[in-house]
Amino acid sequence: MSVRYADRFRIPFKGLKEGDHIFDFEIDSSFFEIFPESEIKEGQLHIEVILHKSTRMLTFDFFIDGTVRVPCDRCLEMFDLPVHFTYSLYVKFGHERIEESANALTIPEDDYFLNISQYIYEFIHLALPLRRVHPNDEEGHPTCNPVMLKKLEELSVEGNVQTNDERWSALKGILKNIN
Ligand SMILES: [Zn+2]
Repeated sequence: MSVRYADRFRIPFKGLKEGDHIFDFEIDSSFFEIFPESEIKEGQLHIEVILHKSTRMLTFDFFIDGTVRVPCDRCLEMFDLPVHFTYSLYVKFGHERIEESANALTIPEDDYFLNISQYIYEFIHLALPLRRVHPNDEEGHPTCNPVMLKKLEELSVEGNVQTNDERWSALKGILKNIN
């Protein structure tokens, strides 16, 4: 099933005229099943790809828009993180396939299509912020699960869990007193 699903992301560039061509994709959990190692398992995203075709080069502009389901770093509950991201892929022709960098690729002269699913996958992951937390509401309060937050607070008090930062502040406090 996933092999055929992945075929949807083939762009048959050879038969296209020079100029701009637009492709649209709606992706959900089926997409992430193509990549079993994916950190993301669920999401709802619209991907618009504009291919600029010229004689010697293909440029793919990716416009990624939607949400992915990830655990909140603050309260651990799953939530829909908004993703808006634009990225370009540059494709040149050569003798063999070489992945030059995250967004530059050389493909053999006689290739006639490119499957861009790998790039959609990578660009979605590039779009994720390091810290993923529930967004704040209009009044600036986090929309985290209050029950979870309370539980976590209790646990950290009971277990006397301190982060490195807290230890560091305590140390700095001691140093100040010595001086
Ligand atoms: Zn949260």
